[in-house]
Amino acid sequence: MTHPAQPKASHFINGEYVEDTAGTPIPVIYAATGEQIATVHAATPAIVEQALSTAKEAQKEWAKMTGTERGRVLRRAADIMRERNHDLSVLETYDTGKPLQETLVADATSGADALEYFGGLAASLTGEHIPLGEDWVYTKREALGLCVGIGAWNYPTQIACWKGAPALACGNSMVFKPSETTPLCALKVAEILIEAGAPAGVFNVVQGMGEVGGALVTDPRVDKVSLTGSVPTGKKVYAAAAAGMKHVTMELGGKSPLIIFDDADVDNAVGGAINGNFYSSGQVCSNGTRVFVQKGIKEKFLARLAERTGNAIIGDPMDEATSFGPMVTENQMNIVLGYIEKGKAEGARLICGGTRADKDGYFIEPTVFADVTDDMTIAREEIFGPVMSVLDFDTEEEVVARANDTEFGLSAGVFTKDFTRAHRVIGNLEAGSCFINSYNDAPVEAPFGGVKASGVGRENSKEAIKHFSQVKSVYVRMGDVEAAF
Ligand code: NDP
Repeated sequence: MTHPAQPKASHFINGEYVEDTAGTPIPVIYAATGEQIATVHAATPAIVEQALSTAKEAQKEWAKMTGTERGRVLRRAADIMRERNHDLSVLETYDTGKPLQETLVADATSGADALEYFGGLAASLTGEHIPLGEDWVYTKREALGLCVGIGAWNYPTQIACWKGAPALACGNSMVFKPSETTPLCALKVAEILIEAGAPAGVFNVVQGMGEVGGALVTDPRVDKVSLTGSVPTGKKVYAAAAAGMKHVTMELGGKSPLIIFDDADVDNAVGGAINGNFYSSGQVCSNGTRVFVQKGIKEKFLARLAERTGNAIIGDPMDEATSFGPMVTENQMNIVLGYIEKGKAEGARLICGGTRADKDGYFIEPTVFADVTDDMTIAREEIFGPVMSVLDFDTEEEVVARANDTEFGLSAGVFTKDFTRAHRVIGNLEAGSCFINSYNDAPVEAPFGGVKASGVGRENSKEAIKHFSQVKSVYVRMGDVEAAF
């Protein structure tokens, strides 16, 4: 019997599901059991061509519609997503393995927020009038054209919406390629947009590995590429886009610092560290995986952290009581287990976890290392799994310098009751998305993105509009033209 997660076909192009079984089969594995639940096929060159030519053509009419009309479509799509939140959350859980307890509140709901927010902005994307005596300049905010979105595997619904909603609000069309690991959810986003009234071809989904992404990024018809992925992939995609002088948004990885001062509320700080390391089993780019704890509070913090981590309910992600799911794939599990072994070998003190959980599927216990030093591998490289490194510090000056000593710059957090210090520290940290007495909140109203190797551009908020549109300026002369000859 066909599994309910099996999509009607692999791709969604020009308003309908499209199949081409000549493409390499991609098995979809449910991470909680290891069982294959669906198969899709990578896009063949013919599928890529169909998606790009359709999207190029559809964009022209879409951009001619008023912002109010485009916005209405996006807001309707948001309503449909919210109505179907339960089914979409179950699918997200099948796609990623994340527990339903999370997907019910963080995926289709976050996607719907983006569709609603950018739908609301679409009608107000206006230009400026710049008076120059009798003459004047006016500016228009115009679409870029055809945009390509490429997603990572941790938030397949959210990433499709965070890219698709602002792109479409500005009058662009999009071809979106999900990660081969999680190909299911973006198809539902495409289906819902059509149902909400989007013209066929405005939002298309094609499946495939990096080579399909590469074909999309290098096509001369493409005006913009928005990638969520790792730094190495980001460097490749950015270079390929630069060769065609395309616009880019790069949402890449991190190794973000979370700094806890002696005066912090211990339970809030522990809560922040748990949210910033163990949500989605640690598969979150903005995670605060270097937890710097001031020496005076260290043992209290570690004791409470170990106690609360012991309360994690690891198991069937479809059971709403489960609060901690598996790694997305066996490969990712093995990568993370490898980092845990490195942590042990390099002398970090294991506080809890540290092994694969005794279950089917790709479960790793939430793991905390203490006495981690700046040079250890687990403190330098992005692990993308449930491994928290706790490092000690003495002074503010010291911790800021150490926190900034990394190629990454996605996020940073600080816990303290001293607000002067909180703002001063955040001001000195090299990171794009920061938190005071909190961690990992990502409302659509707030800009999201990194500095340094963690990325270029911003998603969400009004900032995203700047990255999916361009300004045309028009000089208007009222009098005669003077010329030298
Ligand atoms: P990858 O960088 O491996 O892949 C990202 C996407 O790019 C996938 O769809 C991948 O396809 C595709 N791709 C790979 N090579 C190319 C290429 N040469 N040209 C075009 N596309 C290509 O990341 P993961 O999927 O492993 O995701 C984990 C990473 O994503 C982590 O480093 C994490 O930090 C980052 N991330 C960043 C976020 C942010 O907003 N800053 C949010 C979430 C994750 P395929 O998978 O099919 O090979």
